[in-house]
Amino acid sequence: MLWVAIIGLVMTVAAVAVAGRRVMFLFKLATVGAPAPERVEYARTHVGDEIKAQLVEVFGQKKLLKWTPSGVAHFFVMWAFFILLTVYIEAYGAIIQGAITGTPDFHIPLIGTWGVLGFLQDFIAVACLLGLVAFAIIRVKNSPKTLGRRSRFSGSHLGGAWLVLFMIFNIIWTLFLARGAAAANGNFPYSSGAFVSLALGDVLPASGLLEEIALLLHIGFMLVFLVIVVNSKHLHVFTAPLNVLFSRRPDGLGGAPEMRVDGKPVDFEDEDLDPERLGRGKIGDTTWKGFLDFYSCTECGRCQSQCPAWNTDKPLSPKMLILDQRDHAFKVAPYLLAAQAGVEHKDTDVLALLEKPLVGEEGVIHPDVLWSCTNCGACVEQCPVDIEHIDHILDMRRYQVMVESSFPSEAGVMVKNLENKGNPWGMSEMKRADWIEELATSVDGQHVEVPMVEDKMPEDAEYLFWVGCAGALEDRAKKTTKAVAELLHIAGVKFAVLGPMEACSGDPARRLGMEYLFNMLAQQNIETLNEAGVKKIVATCPHCFNTLANEYPQLGGTYEVVHHTQLLSKLVDEGLLTPITPIEEKITYHDPCFLGRHNKVYSQPRDIMAKVPGVQTQEMHRHKDRGFCCGAGGARMWMEERIGKRINTERVDEALTTNPDTVSTACPFCMVMLGDAINEKKNNGEAKESLEVVDVAQLLIKSVKGAS
Ligand code: SF4
Ligand code: SF4
Repeated sequence: MLWVAIIGLVMTVAAVAVAGRRVMFLFKLATVGAPAPERVEYARTHVGDEIKAQLVEVFGQKKLLKWTPSGVAHFFVMWAFFILLTVYIEAYGAIIQGAITGTPDFHIPLIGTWGVLGFLQDFIAVACLLGLVAFAIIRVKNSPKTLGRRSRFSGSHLGGAWLVLFMIFNIIWTLFLARGAAAANGNFPYSSGAFVSLALGDVLPASGLLEEIALLLHIGFMLVFLVIVVNSKHLHVFTAPLNVLFSRRPDGLGGAPEMRVDGKPVDFEDEDLDPERLGRGKIGDTTWKGFLDFYSCTECGRCQSQCPAWNTDKPLSPKMLILDQRDHAFKVAPYLLAAQAGVEHKDTDVLALLEKPLVGEEGVIHPDVLWSCTNCGACVEQCPVDIEHIDHILDMRRYQVMVESSFPSEAGVMVKNLENKGNPWGMSEMKRADWIEELATSVDGQHVEVPMVEDKMPEDAEYLFWVGCAGALEDRAKKTTKAVAELLHIAGVKFAVLGPMEACSGDPARRLGMEYLFNMLAQQNIETLNEAGVKKIVATCPHCFNTLANEYPQLGGTYEVVHHTQLLSKLVDEGLLTPITPIEEKITYHDPCFLGRHNKVYSQPRDIMAKVPGVQTQEMHRHKDRGFCCGAGGARMWMEERIGKRINTERVDEALTTNPDTVSTACPFCMVMLGDAINEKKNNGEAKESLEVVDVAQLLIKSVKGAS
């Protein structure tokens, strides 16, 4: 057996050296990137959360298991990697022991002859084989050749994926051959449990040579696989746990990350701030966490399959957004590493490559890709390895907007309006209180008192009602505002509003990448809120809700923020609001992305509708965490949608498949977007005239008051 040990060890040293060299290269490349100390700090100070994330996401495969059967297949293949490590300990033990004693009858000390372990090894190997068959079927059924753009694998490296399946298959069949041959020769550590290996031992000839060759093949395939893994998308085997460890908690959604330079949050007051370094303009500006995202992408295409931009024929695929950056990073890597080591590049081609803009007509990412994103979060939500696509998009937008001044011209109007008037429509701030007057003069609303904050919150006010720009200035959204004010009044909840003192929360500026303007608006609002002594806020707009709850704390504004559906649902539960009048309608609810996916408020709007007598709810195919965007997020509300099908039309087409009397939602932007698409459908005769889109608060007030 000496020759077996020599060949085995030589193969191992060679493969580990090749793989190790690649790992060192990947590590060095990531460290070329910008620092991200906040990621390490969070992991260091939230050990419990991180352990839970590893158990749930990595070992429990929570996200993948949502995609049965591919999730189940992946679960078994991944666990095979862990459990079959024991088989490799046995294989190496056998060749070493065989070389020393001449008999390769090695077993792992203490547990190595235990039938349970033998069973587990055979069971997981069989499950892994079945998983490979499932993967092969899924890949054939979802082949881009037949489904084209609709395939989630469209754009992925298909050959590499098949090669990896083939290599795992080789590892498994050689495993059984080696174990069966060992059993036939009386060298197998298990006398029970290992049902496949023992059965094979009964049929295979007792041959030392067969056992030796099988052992070498088994080890050899594993070593080749190791080299392939570190050079392919299967690198995620090693990097995914790290990417989960350093991802933003709880899930990379909710608030946008602070903008940082050299790892420190940007202070716009700082005179030393280099304005050229805002956001991310070149691949070398990527943080090491960004590189970890590149290394972790499995090319599974789950993100792409859920993306509203991709699904309406726009050029943005969140998968390709990551892969295009990754491919460019690998292309530039030798020069980046050399530059880091002090080499001064003079070759113009090399310099052009190093300076290649991340975004541009000739850049790595086309501007149409960057500006198609609605920040809906569907990609981040689905990604099994916690890649943070929105963070990449925001950082690139920040550079485009603040350094290059390059963004869709229509959004420029919104920016000017925010700068001059504090709202995206450019209306006078005095108009922010018009709805109060309208409510007071309406027949039903005469009794509703809406106190205004005058420097301080009124003594008895529990909530600051954050009305938002749309809620105060846009006619359809104003109906929600009035409904909520009336409902709070009926329930006896004391509140006050800021009126003209309220400015835009800053969400559209931040999502556009105009971080400076966001900071300005947010600081102004935080000052107003803090001076007024606000502790609790209720907001009707999910974008304001998200910004106030998740982003203002970055600037020192910390409040208890609820969305109106959360508060109204609670008031209904407590019996302070009683829906009594039946609404005999079939209603389908549209999840606003910034309420649902970004903040996990799925049940409360549905709970409210469930309490309204007569309402018959019908879910759309895409709902809750797989809900489909209305097209307004990510500042897209203020940009023209010139490419592909309109996202709001796609969503309304889906809503119409449920044949609804009403479409309900809980966001003023969704109301506008869906309302526009419904009106278009009505004009074309594709939707009934009575179809309308309403906020769940409007449904509730109608039932509570019995108004028609
Ligand atoms: S956030 Fe939404 S629109 Fe943007 S890339 Fe992800 S899925 Fe697509
Ligand atoms: S980014 Fe995530 S979801 Fe998208 S292809 Fe890569 S691993 Fe899959």
